[in-house]
Amino acid sequence: MQTITATNYSVYFNENGYEYLNRILKPELYSKIFIIVDGNTAEYCLPNFLAHLATNIEIEIIELEAGEENKNIETCLQVWYSLTELEGDRKSIILNLGGGVVTDLGSFVACTFKRGIDFINIPTTLLGMVDAAIGGKNGVDLGILKNQIGIIREPKAVIVDTDFLQTLDGSQMRSGLAEMLKHGLIYDKSYWNKFKDLSNLNTNDLDTLIHESIAIKNTIVSEDLTENGIRKALNFGHTLGHAIESYCLEHPNVKSLLHGEAIAIGMILESHISKEMGLLNNEAYHEIKYCISDIFEKVSFTTEAINQIIDLLIFDKKNEFGKVQFVLLEEIGKTKLNQTCSNELIHNAFTDYQL
Ligand code: NAD
Ligand code: ZN
Repeated sequence: MQTITATNYSVYFNENGYEYLNRILKPELYSKIFIIVDGNTAEYCLPNFLAHLATNIEIEIIELEAGEENKNIETCLQVWYSLTELEGDRKSIILNLGGGVVTDLGSFVACTFKRGIDFINIPTTLLGMVDAAIGGKNGVDLGILKNQIGIIREPKAVIVDTDFLQTLDGSQMRSGLAEMLKHGLIYDKSYWNKFKDLSNLNTNDLDTLIHESIAIKNTIVSEDLTENGIRKALNFGHTLGHAIESYCLEHPNVKSLLHGEAIAIGMILESHISKEMGLLNNEAYHEIKYCISDIFEKVSFTTEAINQIIDLLIFDKKNEFGKVQFVLLEEIGKTKLNQTCSNELIHNAFTDYQL
């Protein structure tokens, strides 16, 4: 698959990725390689990854506990200490081998250690490949609040090896699919149409869909790295989706949702709001609702839960001057940015979702 070029780095696929890594991991360029993994990627991905590496630079492995609840500053602190104890210096490089939790946190650690060292993302989940590992956003959660601490700095490269997906379970695959659907909804109707029938999907089709998804995200980010305009579109489904995720993190007794599962609900709700505000037509709304509901199990929310989710919106990091900002849809493939909406419309959207 063809390499995708971003403004300051490239996304390499499969064997091209390893060829690139082995070309740059030279002792004259780097003093030490730190590979950050979590418990699962240490088991399922690291042995294969190491088998592809041909370098004589010393390698140290730093293993994190898996899970969103560990994407926090306390874990960063442990990694900063590990890097220090293992004598990391300004010429060290970090390779983040994992899903969005490892790439978000590992990149943030790399950007802040000794005021910034090189890092490369090697995403091992579908969500990581099509979204989290590319675009330069990194950081951690603050308590239950998502991605509150972080900076934007692009990686030196991203290596996508779709073989890693073989050990990923169905729910994690669906979670990544949510972000791919989002790319179609916000930017490319013909891409969205490809998801209407997933029944005959084979591995080659999936590889192509992943490549196209990355290309869409890359085009958007390349135009607006610091999110002053078009990049905001990538937040479609995330205003309510992130609040739902935070609500679940705050209530361990409620069934927890993966990032993509929460975003899938957020996309249905925000499409309903788009329709109620006279932006999206009824037919397009129903197409979105039924396509997403076919893939993701419906989740029930009590009125109290909905009220708490609405209360959490004030912490959304896109808010400006105290106003909650939504990305809405005008049609499939076209967004309207910086929209506000009443709590009543949000309640109506939940009511329709739960019908
Ligand atoms: P994750 O990193 O928690 O990975 C999901 C699970 O899969 C974990 O248990 C992990 O250990 C396991 N795993 C990873 N690779 C595996 C493999 N190949 N085989 C078996 N198990 C494997 O979650 P995620 O869904 O990859 O990422 C979610 C995170 O990404 C969230 O924190 C979200 O905020 C963030 N995100 C960031 C951006 C961004 O632009 N920076 C974009 C979207 C999402
Ligand atoms: Zn997301």
